Amino acid sequence: MTWQPRGHTARLRYEFVVDHERDPQRYDSRMTADWAILRAEKMIPRASVTARKSLHSRATLEFQLPAGWAVATPYGSVGELRYSIDDPTRRFDQPGGWLLAGKIGSRNDKIGTVRVVVAAPAGDSARRQDTLAFLKFTLPRLQEILPQLPPRLLIVSAGDPMWRGGLSGPSSMFLHSDRPLISENRTSTLLHELAHIALGIRGDEESDWIVEGLAEHYSLETLRRSGGISEQRYKQALKHLSQWAKRSPTLFGSHSNGPTTARAVLALRAADAEIRSATGGKASLDDVARKLANERGTVSLVRLQKAAQEVAGRPLRSLEREQLAKPVSAPTAARDG
Ligand SMILES: [Zn+2]
Repeated sequence: MTWQPRGHTARLRYEFVVDHERDPQRYDSRMTADWAILRAEKMIPRASVTARKSLHSRATLEFQLPAGWAVATPYGSVGELRYSIDDPTRRFDQPGGWLLAGKIGSRNDKIGTVRVVVAAPAGDSARRQDTLAFLKFTLPRLQEILPQLPPRLLIVSAGDPMWRGGLSGPSSMFLHSDRPLISENRTSTLLHELAHIALGIRGDEESDWIVEGLAEHYSLETLRRSGGISEQRYKQALKHLSQWAKRSPTLFGSHSNGPTTARAVLALRAADAEIRSATGGKASLDDVARKLANERGTVSLVRLQKAAQEVAGRPLRSLEREQLAKPVSAPTAARDG
């Protein structure tokens, strides 16, 4: 749709449907009589603006809610139910990220430099206090690797029939109330989504594996470096990943599923080892991830190779397309040569 505002004031009015099923009967956007969970992008769809260069935008988001409702957003408030939206990367400021409106139970704490808010519908079984305690010892470790965490972080939780996983957005995430902080296979959906937020990158049409691989790698690394899992458990997690990775026919695709993400973690770990050996242990994949997170935007294999080369001082063999395309070998079966 194209909208052409005219005169001193112009108004655009529209209605939209909140409910959306990601899988049958599993919602990633939903409104009930007591609460609503949605992404701001749903409410105000992404727009591109054609305007004179000298023009800029000022945006304020204001809610009118039923009596007894409150709202949790990733933005700082500038008044009762009023939020100032400022996205320095865009000329036209638009709200983005997760929102929760309704009868809300929330807890918040300052962890390092980040104000963390955990919010869920009142009466929901979400573990608000456990989540803050878990982040107290893990978030600072992740921030050492990726300092680009936003000043405010909103974690929105709710139970069924919401989608049973985690979904990240700008400065915010949705996390199903039933998700454990650490799964039986030693991965953490919470830390995985947090890594996505800190990285702030997306893949081009064949590079989702880089985005998902980095998020999963740093979720696991954060657990290990914070002492949340022992070396032995960490090795078991890697073994599990290498078994799973065998089911991925290729890294390159528009959507990285579980096996492909497992394979991506192994590929990135190989790159990490090569950088460490090329620099005598002075640099690692952490420097590459930090570089990508600093520049943000869309990543491609070429961009990853370039960032890794700048860190390692030479091109990495482990990131050559030919190497990455090789099938994952069974760890026990000796290959000829
Ligand atoms: Zn992910």
